[in-house]
Amino acid sequence: MRSSASLYVSDVKLLLDTPEDVAYQMNREGVNDIDYIFYSHWHPDHTLGLRIVEKMYRFWLGTFVRGDKQLKKVKICALTKVMTDLYNVYGTFLNYYMRLGLIEKISLENATSYQIRDYSVTPFEVLGSNVISTVFLIKHGNRKVIYAPCDVKPFPQDLRLRKPDLLILGEVFPEGPLKEGITIPEDNPLRRELFSMEEALKLAKNLEAKKTVFTHIEEEWGKSYDDYKVIEGLYGRENIAFAYDGMKINL
Ligand SMILES: [Zn+2]
Repeated sequence: MRSSASLYVSDVKLLLDTPEDVAYQMNREGVNDIDYIFYSHWHPDHTLGLRIVEKMYRFWLGTFVRGDKQLKKVKICALTKVMTDLYNVYGTFLNYYMRLGLIEKISLENATSYQIRDYSVTPFEVLGSNVISTVFLIKHGNRKVIYAPCDVKPFPQDLRLRKPDLLILGEVFPEGPLKEGITIPEDNPLRRELFSMEEALKLAKNLEAKKTVFTHIEEEWGKSYDDYKVIEGLYGRENIAFAYDGMKINL
């Protein structure tokens, strides 16, 4: 079983998306602090693990018996339109955590950078066919990473997104028969949402990405990690890699 897609930037304790298994993933990797959570979009596979803020920063027994002070307020950040979606879907839940003092919300402006110490995070809005999603540009010094995990078609056009040291792209399907022998027909609407390998490589080339990592793989394609290693070999010169649970990247 593969875990869901999420990215943790350790220097600034920034978590991008909270899939339902994120708490287990953080435990497994020994990550024990979060200052920021940035949301790409409201979909459940990116949000249902929000309870992680309670698991990490609310010690109920200590609070009620010893009178412990609230440990931390995690900053929940998203584009204004994505924040509206989040509140439409999870409003009661988010307001409850606000009342407990566990979170505060920060709405981000499209294509405007948000500074966290010497890092900047710039969200670019993606108006997809069924949801508003986000491509994040994360910069530190002269290094650039693009995190585009899900529903990022049409990919935003902006000069700042050019020449990333790393492009992390989700929802790329390999060719050939997928799970249960299914092949996605040429005219199937799924192709409008997802990237074929060819499209993904073209995008990486157009952006002049130095390296590309494919994420949000999960189980849908019915392939094992060995299968992905074979595909990586086929595209050896393109400098691509398929992500795996616990993958660490140093730039
Ligand atoms: Zn997704």
